[in-house]
Amino acid sequence: MLLQEEREKIVVYGQEMLKRGLTAGTFGNLSIYNEKENLFAISPSGMDYFKTDASDVVVMTLDGEKADGDRKPSSEVDMHRIFYQKRPGIKSVVHTHPRYATTLACLGWSIPPLHYLVAYSGREVPCIPYVPFGTYELAQAALDGMGDNYACILGNHGLLCVGGNISYTLDVSEQIEFCAQLYYNCKAAGQEPKLLNDEQISSVLEAFQTYRQK
Ligand code: 13P
Ligand code: ZN
Repeated sequence: MLLQEEREKIVVYGQEMLKRGLTAGTFGNLSIYNEKENLFAISPSGMDYFKTDASDVVVMTLDGEKADGDRKPSSEVDMHRIFYQKRPGIKSVVHTHPRYATTLACLGWSIPPLHYLVAYSGREVPCIPYVPFGTYELAQAALDGMGDNYACILGNHGLLCVGGNISYTLDVSEQIEFCAQLYYNCKAAGQEPKLLNDEQISSVLEAFQTYRQK
């Protein structure tokens, strides 16, 4: 089987998405890109994450052809491969339907820099207008709408996060969901949050370069 290590990680982190409350049922999807092989492993479409094993994970080329696996790949396969094709350094994509980010998706609201953790995405988390799920149009709109951030809200749909490795990208999803909850809470309090300015966000982005353990 091709990309055995990546397939196993898709199983582990797929379950992790549910354990961390980032998605519900069979929704959401995740993938890992192996640059050397120029292939990526992606979750199968519509399958229970706790009933998925490594052999159910599908291996795809960047052109969208199946390279290995019997299952149907995620319906959002284009939204994954477009980031591997167009954004150097991106090696994992995580799409979820978390409660608060999806609430903002239904309101059509981007997340402004109300808390320093918004820097997990960049200067903001843009929200793109609704585009039907599973279409190339959604993939293109997500790529364009995300810009050079690492997360975007998919209008009337959910959250999309990208990163250099799957563990970190799941953390991005979790922290952006936390920021979405804060934004919702501020609005529910009938208030506008006090936003960080450009300079403050720049210094967080810089501090994040060296924040984690080596
Ligand atoms: P898949 O089960 O096909 O990955 O689709 C789930 C989803 O969230 C579509 O946007
Ligand atoms: Zn979805």
